[in-house]
Amino acid sequence: MNHDSKNIMVILSSPSGAGKTTISKKIQQKFQNFKISVSHTTRKPRANEVEGIDYYFINENDFKDKIKKNEFYEYAKIFGNYYGTSKESVLNLLKNKNDVLFDIDWQGTQQLSKFKELNLLKIFILPPSKDELKKRLVQRNQDKPHVVEERLKAYDTDSAHKKDYDFVVINDNLEQCFKEVEKIILNKKN
Ligand code: ADP
Ligand code: 5GP
Repeated sequence: MNHDSKNIMVILSSPSGAGKTTISKKIQQKFQNFKISVSHTTRKPRANEVEGIDYYFINENDFKDKIKKNEFYEYAKIFGNYYGTSKESVLNLLKNKNDVLFDIDWQGTQQLSKFKELNLLKIFILPPSKDELKKRLVQRNQDKPHVVEERLKAYDTDSAHKKDYDFVVINDNLEQCFKEVEKIILNKKN
């Protein structure tokens, strides 16, 4: 992956439901130059999700075809669905001199970390507690109960990977959490 070293690439990961999608959107609003890397997934779209903005929604055969053709920088199977970062979409962002924001899990982070030339800033978001996480997953009201359970079950394994990241930020109060993330990004950029 060749790119201008001034571009920064922020990875936001968290246990599902801790708030990384919410925070990613706030970063994009605040920093005009940041674009979110839109992943491919075989998961079905949620009611509020838009093709090409939240994800590129594809079927499993097409996803596997892209794996064979080496079209992903990284991919993982998460909660029974495939998710991946396509080379094409990232290269387009870099060509336009954008800073890039990845909302990917710890497996994808480990794979991207192998590209030593990347100017990565890895941030892990944690909820204030597992109970609060459950509330958020339920309130989001986008996933069936068994899917919420599956995501909660992954909490301990997911959280253990916080050690792979440069910073860990607790998302209790959203505004405060965002301020911390903003400070971390500004420090890296300056
Ligand atoms: P993720 O992308 O990590 O799965 P989301 O950003 O979708 O998580 O957040 C999960 C739910 O929690 C959403 O309904 C979101 O509006 C809500 N949420 C996010 N941050 C907070 C917060 N600090 N306090 C309360 N609710 C929050
Ligand atoms: P969701 O189904 O809630 O949108 O996402 C589930 C998990 O998949 C989240 O942890 C999210 O960060 C992760 N994810 C989304 N896109 C990608 C991707 O392209 N690669 C990897 N490795 N994980 C992803």
